[in-house]
Amino acid sequence: MMLSVMFQGKTYPFRGAFPPVWNPLAYLDYNNLWRTMDEMGKEIPVDAPWQARHAEEWDKMTMKELIDKICWTKTAREFASIFVNINVTSEPHEVSALWFLWYVKQCGGTTRIFSVTNGGQERKFVGGAGQVSEKMMDLLGDKVKLNSPVTYIDQTDDNIIVETLNHEHYECKYVISAIPPTLTAKIHFKPELPPERTQLIQRLPMGAVIKCMVYYKEAFWKKKDYCGCMIIEDEEAPIAITLDDTKPDGSVPAIMGFILARKADRLAKLHKEIRKRKICELYAKVLGSQEALHPVHYEEKNWCEEQYSGGCYTAYFPPGIMTQYGRVIRQPVGRIYFAGTETATQWSGYMEGAVQAGERAAREVLNDLGKVAKKDIWVQEPDSKDVPAFEITHTFLERNLPSVPGLLKITGFSTSVALLCFVLYKFKLLPRS
Ligand SMILES: Cc1cc2nc3c(=O)[nH]c(=O)nc-3n(C[C@H](O)[C@H](O)[C@H](O)COP(=O)(O)OP(=O)(O)OC[C@H]3O[C@@H](n4cnc5c(N)ncnc54)[C@H](O)[C@@H]3O)c2cc1C
Repeated sequence: MMLSVMFQGKTYPFRGAFPPVWNPLAYLDYNNLWRTMDEMGKEIPVDAPWQARHAEEWDKMTMKELIDKICWTKTAREFASIFVNINVTSEPHEVSALWFLWYVKQCGGTTRIFSVTNGGQERKFVGGAGQVSEKMMDLLGDKVKLNSPVTYIDQTDDNIIVETLNHEHYECKYVISAIPPTLTAKIHFKPELPPERTQLIQRLPMGAVIKCMVYYKEAFWKKKDYCGCMIIEDEEAPIAITLDDTKPDGSVPAIMGFILARKADRLAKLHKEIRKRKICELYAKVLGSQEALHPVHYEEKNWCEEQYSGGCYTAYFPPGIMTQYGRVIRQPVGRIYFAGTETATQWSGYMEGAVQAGERAAREVLNDLGKVAKKDIWVQEPDSKDVPAFEITHTFLERNLPSVPGLLKITGFSTSVALLCFVLYKFKLLPRS
C-alpha cells in the first residue's frame, strides 16, 4: 500500500522511506543530505558521542545551521526540517547537530529511523504498550506503587531512604532512576548531586507533541490503496505525520497523527473541536476523500501538560551540552543508577531504548553486588524473530551521485576544459586531423 505526502502545496502518493523528489537538482541535494548525515554519523560512537573527532565543532552547531550548510535547495532544507520535527519533536534551531546526528545513528541511520516497513515505525504491541507496566504489576503485585512520585532520596546511611509525595518511606540498598533527566530536578537528594549532574539535568528539555487519534466508521483510505501514513510539510497543517492505528484484526479504524514542536505550542491554544476540524480537513485534502470529514470519535493527548513527563517523546540536547555534560548521563551517583530511554545507546528515545537502559542499569547494580561481571553489563539485545530487521542497502546512484556543489564543480571543470580546447583549436595549437 502507498504512503501519501503533502509537500509545497501538492499531494501525491509514494512508496519507500522518503517521499520522491522530481526536480533533478533538488534530488541531488536531497540524496546528498541523507548520505552526508549517515557519513557524519559513522564517526560518532553510540556510547560516547562526545568523543567523536568533530564533537566540539558539531556540538556548537544547531541542526538548522548544519542543514543550511549541507542543503542548497529549498526542497531539501524544508524536508530536513520536518525530518527533525518528526524524529525528535523539536525544532532544528533548538537541537545540537552532534546530538541529532548521534540520535539518528543509534537508530540505524536516516532510512531506518524514518521507515515504516523495516524501520522505526514498523512494530506495534498487540494489545497496546500500556501492557508492559500492567504485566510487570501482575508479576510484582503490590510491590509496585502507583501514584507515588519520589520527592526525596537520602543515601547518607547504609540503607537508602526514599520518600514519596504522600510521605511514605521506603528503605533499599540501591535506587534505579528511570525518569527523564530533567524531572530528577524535582527530587531532593542527600547528599546533593555532584555539580555536573545538577547542571546536566537543568539542560535537557523534553520535546513537544500532541498525539491526536481520529476514529472512523471504516478505514476508507485502504479503498484507495493508502496505508494511512501521511507526511505533511505545510506551515498551516496541524499534523506532520500520521500512521494507521486500526487494530490488527481490522476493528476500530483510526488515524494517529502528531502535532509537533512549534505547532504543539501554537495549536494547544485552540479549542479541541477546532483542532479536530482542522485535522479532519487536512486528512480530507491529503487523502482526497470527503470521508475524512466525518469521524465517529476523536481523542487527543497533549504530552507537554504532563508534569511527570514534561513532554515527549524524549529529552533533547541543545547545542553545547553533549560535549560539556554528556558523559555524566549514565554515571551512577553513589548507589543511585540511571536508566530511562535517554541513557540508552540503541533506539534511545524509544521503548526499545528504555528496555535496553533498564536492563543495563539492573546489571550495573548486580555487578556492584558481585553477581554479574563488568564485561556482562552491556549485552546486545537479540534481534526480533517475529519481525526481523533487514539490512538497509543503497543503490549505486544513491551512493555515487554528486552533491549540488559537486555537480557545479564537475560542470565548471568540463566547461573550462571545453573552453581551453576551443581556444587551442582556434589558435591552431591543436592538430586538426
Ligand atoms: C506521543 C508519544 C509517542 C511515542 N511514540 C513512540 C513509538 O511509536 N515508539 C516508541 O518506541 N516510542 C515512542 N514514544 C517514546 C516512548 O514512549 C518513550 O521512549 C518511553 O516511554 C520511555 O520510557 P522510560 O521508561 O524511559 O520513561 P517513561 O515512559 O517516561 O517513564 C517514566 C515514568 O516515571 C514516572 N515519574 C516521573 N517522575 C517521577 C518521580 N519523581 N517519582 C516516581 N516516578 C516518576 C512517570 O510518571 C513515568 O511513568 C512515544 C512517546 C510519546 C509521548
